[in-house]
Amino acid sequence: MIDCHVHTARCGHGEGSAAEYVAAARAKGIGVLTFTEHLPLPESLDPCREYSMAEHELPAYLHEIGVLASASQTAPARPTVLTGIEADWLPSHLPHVERLLSAFSFDLVLGSVHFLEGWAFDDPRLMQQWDRADVDAVWEQYFGLLVDAARSGLFDAMAHPDLVKKFGYRPTFDPRELYEAAAGAFAATGTAVELSTAGLRKPVGELYPSMEFLTACARAGVPATLGSDAHRPDEVGAGFEMAREALEAVGYDRLVYFVGRERREYAL
Ligand code: ZN
Ligand code: FE
Ligand code: FE
Ligand code: ZN
Repeated sequence: MIDCHVHTARCGHGEGSAAEYVAAARAKGIGVLTFTEHLPLPESLDPCREYSMAEHELPAYLHEIGVLASASQTAPARPTVLTGIEADWLPSHLPHVERLLSAFSFDLVLGSVHFLEGWAFDDPRLMQQWDRADVDAVWEQYFGLLVDAARSGLFDAMAHPDLVKKFGYRPTFDPRELYEAAAGAFAATGTAVELSTAGLRKPVGELYPSMEFLTACARAGVPATLGSDAHRPDEVGAGFEMAREALEAVGYDRLVYFVGRERREYAL
């Protein structure tokens, strides 16, 4: 299997060095490991550097992963290491995101929606805001941003595509229309969807995306990546058996990963 989404201690809310993640992946028989540290956020969104590394650390991150990647090309030992990044869709800070993404080369650029007008809605410390929020409106807003992100063309795959469900706040309406719209946008723009096992470790206790959303993606012919979104070495490849079952159940028999931002298929 291939894990296309892991972090390290560099992000400010994770543990472990890149070398420890590689060792964990090797122990679990992961064939390819793509590091996708959070792209540095603008200062205003992350003044204490709890969500992402500082901008001046980005070259060191890329160098560190590059060294591991080169070593993995020459040594027969698995996994093959690839260099990615997880970038937030920040419509109010587009020049920042575009500048950083174009300044470096990546194997994979994951797109994420973690912010709704500056609210990090998935941060457990800001959870009380959910009780004051109009949950229906939050879901609508989240999916609007997800579709805009796919249409931006900045991202190869959209990570944890229904992250909005993380704490279990559900809309009063049937969200299937939102899933169809997102799947349609992914298909139309050639953006892959990530099957993320991180939700299994969160209050919601299920895969991202939901089976209904994953079904909509499969029907629309959207390619899928697989990622653990590990923030600790022992989370690499976590939940992959359940992920495989979910993917097979909705008709996926192959997945994709990215090298130099080009899609490569592999059998599930
Ligand atoms: Zn993170
Ligand atoms: Fe994320
Ligand atoms: Fe992540
Ligand atoms: Zn993530």
